[in-house]
Amino acid sequence: MAATASPVSLASPSLPRTAPEAHHRAPCRRSLYFSPRPVATSALSLRSSRPPPPRAASVGIPVVADVGAAAGLSPPPPPSLPFRVGHGFDLHRLEPGLPLIIGGVNVPHDRGCEAHSDGDVLLHCVVDAILGALGLPDIGQIFPDSDPKWKGAASSVFVKEAVKLMHEAGYELGNVDATLILQKPKLSPHKESIRANLCDLLGAHPSVVNIKAKTHEKVDSLGENRSIAAHTVVLLMRK
Ligand SMILES: [Zn+2]
Repeated sequence: MAATASPVSLASPSLPRTAPEAHHRAPCRRSLYFSPRPVATSALSLRSSRPPPPRAASVGIPVVADVGAAAGLSPPPPPSLPFRVGHGFDLHRLEPGLPLIIGGVNVPHDRGCEAHSDGDVLLHCVVDAILGALGLPDIGQIFPDSDPKWKGAASSVFVKEAVKLMHEAGYELGNVDATLILQKPKLSPHKESIRANLCDLLGAHPSVVNIKAKTHEKVDSLGENRSIAAHTVVLLMRK
């Protein structure tokens, strides 16, 4: 799971210094401020005072330092976005003798996911998509298994927490589109159960939650029944 809090472009010699007011007018300057977009929640708000690093109380999220201020630049005003889009990806290795849990449903198979938690590849990537839409770090940073609160937790807990963060940020779910990639077993007999379970966790109507599945044409670990992956895109709408 990739970290998201590493500003790298501040010292670029190709970026000319201009008057602070000019930064507000230039959209490309926004890329200088590598921080979560403020969306009206304690977990997400941009903070100007750096030491000590503020943390969101509910999940212990480290708020990214105001690197724009560190570079002597004024940050642009926060955009008020009616929609936010997020993408999630996850992959787990399949090992014999483990249960295969997809979207909270136990899918009969000769192997399952190797993971600290229940290895639910779909729920993990749905969580990452929601967190991504909110401009938050990924699931491993928000819910570290080194924290006793999350260690060994069922993946449904992470979905509920992500949904809670979404509502705290002032957003509701628009729609979810997920694609599972696995060679075996066939998911068609389980798709509706998976979708129904995911709808329950998200508090969403089935018409806005789509689950697709495809093989990997028998190539690479996904196609050789050695791993399973999922992609998810979510749209959030301001309430
Ligand atoms: Zn995972």
